Amino acid sequence: MSARLDPRFAALIRGALLALLLGGLVAPIARGEPRRVNADRVAAAGVRVLEGRHLRLFTDLPSEPAVDELPAVFDAAVPQWAAYFGVDESKTAAWQVQGYLIDDRATFAALDLMPEQNPDFANGFATVDELWLVEQPSDYYRRHLLLHEGTHAFMQRFLGGAGPGWYMEGTAELLGAHLWNPPTDVRRSKLQLAAFPATRDAVPMWGRVKTIRDAAAAGQSWPLDAVIELDNTRALGVEGYAWSWALAALLDGHPQFRDRFRALTAAAADPQFNRRFRAAYAADWGDLQAEWQAYAATLDYGYDFARMAMIHRQPTELASGSAQAAIRADRGWQSTGAVLLAGRTYRVTAAGRYVIAVDGDGPWPCEPGGVTLRWHAGRPLGELLAALRPVGADAEDEPAGPRDSLAAAADLSPIASFASPLPAGLGATITPTRDAVLYLRVNDSPAELADNAGELQATIMAIR
Ligand SMILES: [Zn+2]
Repeated sequence: MSARLDPRFAALIRGALLALLLGGLVAPIARGEPRRVNADRVAAAGVRVLEGRHLRLFTDLPSEPAVDELPAVFDAAVPQWAAYFGVDESKTAAWQVQGYLIDDRATFAALDLMPEQNPDFANGFATVDELWLVEQPSDYYRRHLLLHEGTHAFMQRFLGGAGPGWYMEGTAELLGAHLWNPPTDVRRSKLQLAAFPATRDAVPMWGRVKTIRDAAAAGQSWPLDAVIELDNTRALGVEGYAWSWALAALLDGHPQFRDRFRALTAAAADPQFNRRFRAAYAADWGDLQAEWQAYAATLDYGYDFARMAMIHRQPTELASGSAQAAIRADRGWQSTGAVLLAGRTYRVTAAGRYVIAVDGDGPWPCEPGGVTLRWHAGRPLGELLAALRPVGADAEDEPAGPRDSLAAAADLSPIASFASPLPAGLGATITPTRDAVLYLRVNDSPAELADNAGELQATIMAIR
């Protein structure tokens, strides 16, 4: 939630202090002090101060627990930021940020407590040692915004920068998503940063998941490259924040990508961050593209990264004859290993019985045709789905699809991609237009794989 740098102040800042342009997020003083505040003057204006160890927060909001505890929330976050970013906790001991939680902007403007370089920020703004928050419509989102801006301040103070726009905002949203005082388990820390939201009720008014799901439903998911191109030269907008968070959450949550993503915190101040990012994932960029396509189309509360992580296999050309693959019910997309050749026609059949859900009456048995008592994403729960992952040069640029409209009609879907899979059920005929590896999964919510069990047997046969 950095806002665009106001052009009236751009020249002033460039000339006066330092040319540390974090694109829209300008640090006016790299290692300075927060502004001095006249206690009597702010008190007379109805602004009170909440003191914590790492945060002194000025606010014109009335006293209530969810406001008054914010410095304690911030203090609990500091060691978690230190751990996440690999900063020795002892270095953070003396770190203090001055914050402003604002109900009436005019009050803070009259007290000279708004950021000179960005007085019209939308929701929040941070420098190295000051941050600003506008009052939000839920306790959750107010805390989230504090942790978001706190992440920006921490990265600037201890990493010397925050990376390009998608990484800066994605990381702030990733770490801003939190659990606070979880009532179900008193042994846990009262604060947990980087908590992928389990339910909508866990993150009232936050809205990122809804933004992603609305875009996916409209067929307007952002390509991976569009997210990476988000820079800091302009305000991101609601969609930019949502997709930046989604990418950071995938990279941080997925077992194949997590370690490299966390190692990149060391490159936060590198102007060539994106080059280093692409280099770090060059060896399996295709896997990342495939995973992104599937994830962007199905992202939901409680997304189970461990179980949704694709299972890849060494591809083998299926020119003739047949191949078999066992497909687990409790995982996302799984490669059959079979490369289907462009222009040939294949028959995919499936058999087996597995568990697709467990409720009060016990396990729900299911076969590859799915159960019609419950549907998910417009198809029967547990139905076998197929997707084609193209192989060869530029393979990840476009999805492969059936060759002609007859095949499309027979298969109900014109394109079998991870974003728009083909309902295969007990059997389907596929004529790919490009050489492609066949992937299969059963239809279920990405948040509800944990109660599935068993597997089905798929047979892929070349018929023409
Ligand atoms: Zn931000």
